[in-house]
Amino acid sequence: MVGASVVSVREHELAEGQLEDEARRFRTALNGARNELEKLRDRARAEGNGELVDILEMQVMLIEDGMLEADVCQRVRETKRNAGFVLKTYVDEFCECLAKAGNSRFTERTSDIQDLSLRILRKLLGSEEADLSELPGPCILVAHDLSPSDTAAMDRTNVLAFVTSMGSRTSHTAIMARALGIPAVVGLGEVLSEVSEGDPLIVDGAHGKLVLAPAENDLAHYRERIVQETAWRTKLAANAMLPAETRDGFHVSVAANVELPEEAEKLRETHHVGIGLFRTEFLFVNGGSLSDEEAQYAAYRRVVEAISPHSVIFRTLDIGGDKFLSHLDVPIEINPFLGMRAIRFCLRQEDVFRTQLRAILRASAHGGVRILFPMITALEELQRTLEILAEVKADLKREGIPHNPDLDVGIMIEVPAAALIADKLAPHVDFFSIGTNDLVQYMMAADRSNPDISYLYQPGHPSVVRLLDRVVQAANEHGRWVGICGEMASEPLFVPLVLGLGIHELSMSPVAIPVVKDLVRDINMLEAEELVTNAMACGSAEEVTGLCRDFVERIAPELLD
Ligand code: PEP
Ligand code: MG
Repeated sequence: MVGASVVSVREHELAEGQLEDEARRFRTALNGARNELEKLRDRARAEGNGELVDILEMQVMLIEDGMLEADVCQRVRETKRNAGFVLKTYVDEFCECLAKAGNSRFTERTSDIQDLSLRILRKLLGSEEADLSELPGPCILVAHDLSPSDTAAMDRTNVLAFVTSMGSRTSHTAIMARALGIPAVVGLGEVLSEVSEGDPLIVDGAHGKLVLAPAENDLAHYRERIVQETAWRTKLAANAMLPAETRDGFHVSVAANVELPEEAEKLRETHHVGIGLFRTEFLFVNGGSLSDEEAQYAAYRRVVEAISPHSVIFRTLDIGGDKFLSHLDVPIEINPFLGMRAIRFCLRQEDVFRTQLRAILRASAHGGVRILFPMITALEELQRTLEILAEVKADLKREGIPHNPDLDVGIMIEVPAAALIADKLAPHVDFFSIGTNDLVQYMMAADRSNPDISYLYQPGHPSVVRLLDRVVQAANEHGRWVGICGEMASEPLFVPLVLGLGIHELSMSPVAIPVVKDLVRDINMLEAEELVTNAMACGSAEEVTGLCRDFVERIAPELLD
């Protein structure tokens, strides 16, 4: 049924003291798989897909009848091997027996049983992935895919770099890698099947290149590159505190995108900027409880105090899409980027939303805080969101809990529908923050994390430029400020275009701040506006990108090297 893929499971020997934990881990994986299957079965039933209901029912029964659990746990104890390996061997043997029986009805069942095994293995491997926090020594991680939570949990002292088959420049795993300063190349596809454990590799994160079996001259070239890059970064760092002002005197406000509270503290030491986007969901990717108001309040307060006297924009939960929190009851969806994501999830799970709003509002008593709502699509959605915010403020007031009732409220503009009604949304908010990572994927109908269609994921497409222009006009007409917090704000190629459009608030991964500030100082705003006029007349992303390339080539050729 489901397109089965091959999962390779390593065999590990376990110590006597680990056997019961391993059996427990297996039972948890079985429970997780059963929950998923039941939800899938209920959906198939609602859709009237009887054949699928039968298959899923059979898979649930195989888990519920207890034999699989008993046999695998017993073998784990007897062989002292990891549950994933035992399960795979057990299921392979079982399917071989069915095949030998020569009964075609049985043979047909083997793919469903393998599929079940795969689901359980994914659950098991999901919990094994937590081991990335304890790596035996310095290494380059090679994986089919890494979730944002894997990246957040990584043992950063030992991960020199990572490479994955899946993902793209704007997938959250890549964003997380950038925030943590881990060199990474994602979306390499099949190439990774050629890599074996222990192979020497060069990961060139800046150019998205992986060098397999590097020759002596590759090593020499990259050693030289490291020296040059270090010198360049040192030069930029020396100017990192200077304001970002264009050649003709326009001030550009630069802020940081932050995922974890500890990054805020580092930011204070290195950059002296505010936080233009705090992605709160990363507080929860490793199992944090969404209902724990005190823990959230403590985390937000820590950020507010670390970043003071600058301010922070806390974005409310944006889970869903590729930020899947396995410990939450988020529905399994065929198309998660178009599903129960961000504000849609929060409006469905109001208790979770109210808890988060209370915690953010309480943190606002300690410094500059603004709130940002992600994925707003419709006016009614915004109105409901603001109603809830007002109710939460009223609760806090009644309870005598300190907070700032007048804090600024903004929305992400990252869905084309919202961009097109920006003039109707603007009167209800204080600011817009444009999320080009999503805006581009929804505009171009190109999944931001799928490397196979990344050729369509074009921030320079004229449709995107026109849409951005429209949002800026709407914001200006209503006297609202507009910033950009998608990766486009930090791509040197697009910085002149963004400034020319009239977006003067850029928020980005801290690593990009010195580079972008330096570039801004080379830009003449009148020329940037002329670039936009020319870009608006283009018919293709290639033409727009060509104009942007010529512009940057002229003022800062080293950035395109
Ligand atoms: C965006 O969509 O551009 C954005 C900044 O949000 P995220 O990358 O977290 O979806
Ligand atoms: Mg987004």
